[in-house]
Amino acid sequence: MYAYGPVPSRRLGKSIGVSPIPAKVCSYSCVYCQLGRTSKLQTRRERFFPKEDILRDIEAVVKSESADVITFAGDGEPTLCDDLGWLVRKSKAEFSLPVAVITNGSLLWSEDVQSDLLAADIILPTLDAGTHDLFKQINRPHGSITFEKMTSGMIEFRKNYTGQIWLEIMLIKGLNDSDRQLAILKDSVQNVSPDRVYVMTPIRPPAEDWVMCPDQERTRYAEQLLSQAIAISDHEEGNFGVAEFANATEAILEISARHPLRREQALAIEQKFDETGAIDRLLKEQKISLYSYYQSQYIRPVKAPNFFNLPKNKTVEIKIVRVNCCSFRVTVISDAEQLHYRVILADAYYNNLARGQMSKEQLLELCFQYFVNNGLLVRLETKFVLRDICRQYPEFEMGIKNTIIKEESSYHAN
Ligand code: SF4
Repeated sequence: MYAYGPVPSRRLGKSIGVSPIPAKVCSYSCVYCQLGRTSKLQTRRERFFPKEDILRDIEAVVKSESADVITFAGDGEPTLCDDLGWLVRKSKAEFSLPVAVITNGSLLWSEDVQSDLLAADIILPTLDAGTHDLFKQINRPHGSITFEKMTSGMIEFRKNYTGQIWLEIMLIKGLNDSDRQLAILKDSVQNVSPDRVYVMTPIRPPAEDWVMCPDQERTRYAEQLLSQAIAISDHEEGNFGVAEFANATEAILEISARHPLRREQALAIEQKFDETGAIDRLLKEQKISLYSYYQSQYIRPVKAPNFFNLPKNKTVEIKIVRVNCCSFRVTVISDAEQLHYRVILADAYYNNLARGQMSKEQLLELCFQYFVNNGLLVRLETKFVLRDICRQYPEFEMGIKNTIIKEESSYHAN
């Protein structure tokens, strides 16, 4: 599932989010990131998923509910997706909605990235610091990205781009909110010459728990100092679109894994599905936990290892439901409980494993049977790309291939 929502956005209104990259693949590991620390720090662009599948997913969400904008953002840095230009152009042509890209701006020096972004209506790059040292401290970039490289890329892009640039600055107490740091930052902002400047504060739970919101007086000062700046220091209004989910339980688990979800937003999801008690049940089953941050209660999914410990070779029922060509819902049902997964199985990796000898559903059933029989479910996230998990644990691929061979030989023996 690459497209989701619409989600309420403080800058963009009702926004259909598109994530064309795997979770937390990014060129930065910002201290304030609401998704936690970056698991794969990279600057190499890749084709992570089939672009046609991403486009069909966007189409499904566009048809499900009205929206103001399609926003490529993702659970990491969207310009790392090699197909971004094609996706932006196709989305504009097919869905008649403006397209925005939320990017950290670190790759704007690349001609490929610049040309990919030219067709978008709004680009929202990040600029949190005016010096290399502070840039390194806040954004913790990939070693190949210097402050000079990043800012000169933004300045160059501004010269060539006729759409809107809305620059985003995350103001963090004790890091970039002093008079001196803001004065230096102002020079960099002026060099980029954005159409708007948003001063944000880390009101959502950050990657590092020492990150603090600045005092209100500092936010007001930054707003005045940076001409045309707009401060955003409260929560977005509105609720999440949930058309792609089967029930409130699945929606709460998936949205909270991807986006900070406040308790009142989760209650609204319960109401949409008329499924009162989903939050309480998930809490009781220890599949989610609640935590407080800046006067709000957030829902955090508890990773599978903490709540699921099936003994090896346990008899289970495995249900596979195809969501689209490469995305599947998998439910593992034992006498005690049910586990829900969202799995991406792209054609290239399917062909590598199964060579057309079975359907994708049969292959996934076999994979999950292998995971259950070998006590490996504890190593799975609730949403994963099969190819990535097999790259992370090469023994999985070997095990799955051996299971396929055994299946084949038992079939021939019969
Ligand atoms: S805030 Fe954005 S740029 Fe920074 S680590 Fe998170 S996803 Fe990457």
